[in-house]
This record gives sequence, C-alpha cells and structure tokens, in this order.
Amino acid sequence: MNVVLLGPPGSGKGTQAERLQRRTGLIHVSTGDLFRKHLGEGTELGVLARTFMDRGDLVPDEVTVEMVRHRLGEDDILRGVLLDGFPRTVAQADSLADLLEERGERIDAVVLLEVDEQVLVDRLAGRGRADDNPETVRARLEVYRDQTEPLVAYYDERGALRRVDGEGTVEDISGRIEAVLQAIDNPSPSKC
Ligand code: AMP
Repeated sequence: MNVVLLGPPGSGKGTQAERLQRRTGLIHVSTGDLFRKHLGEGTELGVLARTFMDRGDLVPDEVTVEMVRHRLGEDDILRGVLLDGFPRTVAQADSLADLLEERGERIDAVVLLEVDEQVLVDRLAGRGRADDNPETVRARLEVYRDQTEPLVAYYDERGALRRVDGEGTVEDISGRIEAVLQAIDNPSPSKC
C-alpha cells in the first residue's frame, strides 16, 4: 500500500508518518528529511537544495523526483511507503504516478490533514527548525497555497483523497488516519 500524507507545513505529516511507520510497517519517506540529510553530509544535492530551502521555496521538480526515484528503488521498501512532503506540485504528482506505474503499483490513498491556519502558525513558531523563522514560515505557507493545494482537487478527481481532521492529540489524529487506511485495506463487501 502506498500512501501520501498531504497538508500544509505544520499540519503534522512528519509526526504522523513516524508513528504510522511503527504501526503499519510502511516506510516513511520524507523529501524534507532526505534534503536535510544531503545538506548535513554536504553533498552537491544538499548544497543546491539549501538555496531553495532557506527561502522557503521548493527545490526544482526534476531534482526532487530523481531523489524520490532513487529512494523508492532501495530494498527496505517492501510493503509500501508513506510519502511525507511529496508530491508538492502537480508535475511531481504526475511523475509519481509514472514512477509507481513502472513498478506495477499505484497510490492507494492520499490523506489530507486539515488544520486551521492559526494553529499551523503557532505550531511552526514552536518548532525551532532553521527554516521555521517567521519570514520563511510565511513563504512556505504561501508556496503551499499556490503550488501544493491544487493537489487536493487533483487527487479528489482521481478518487484517492481522504480528508482527516488534523487537530487534537497525536493519538487522536493517528487513530483517524489508521481507520481510513484500514477501510482501504479491507473494503466492505459490495451489496450487489
Ligand atoms: P519539509 O520538511 O517537508 O517541510 O521540507 C523542507 C523544505 O525542503 C521545503 O520547504 C522545500 O524547500 C524542500 N522540499 C521538501 N520536499 C519538497 C518537494 N516535494 N519538492 C520541492 N521541495 C521540497
């Protein structure tokens, strides 16, 4: 099963993905974490990514898709992935569909974490990451609205979107997500 966690910065995708990885055996793949790893190791990709990350902008699609293609080819990915922070543009979503199709797979669900904007700003202010300063936070929320939010309609049209209330305790939210994923794994028998 391949699942995309969709939602604005601060909606809790990373926290939920960590927890779901432990509970489902799906592998958490975060493009933000992969970029930060490259950055920490000082690779060429890390140096390039940094210029975009510092501004709150997106790293170019080709670079990001190549990194994901590489990650999905690694052999720990047996039961599927929980994608966190990818795709973030329609072009990335199209590339992801192609990438999975080549492997005879598809996206089984896109979980949209819905969180009130003020809650997001408060959460991001409390995190203390290098790109969590007020100016970058504002830029990242704007980039989300312009480039990533269109994916809500994109996946809704394809019947994959599942909306989940992203407010409450970590446990409440993960309970909601797991219920959604279980319903997809064990669809109720058709009545006809
Ligand atoms: P995140 O940890 O998901 O909030 O990502 C941190 C930063 O990494 C983002 O603000 C972008 O600069 C970059 N990034 C992460 N994922 C992507 C993606 N799918 N496409 C482009 N840039 C990304």
